[in-house]
Amino acid sequence: MTKYACFSCGATVDATEIKELIRCPYCGGRVLIKKRPEGGHHVRAR
Ligand SMILES: [Zn+2]
Repeated sequence: MTKYACFSCGATVDATEIKELIRCPYCGGRVLIKKRPEGGHHVRAR
């Protein structure tokens, strides 16, 4: 599942909460940053 972080209030917004408008449902901010699932970058091989 894709998640977004709101740039304004820092809320995590699930992609399913966003329908047509890319917009934070909490503060109405329009800048959302796509988050990578499962940690993305910081995976370390052991
Ligand atoms: Zn927000």
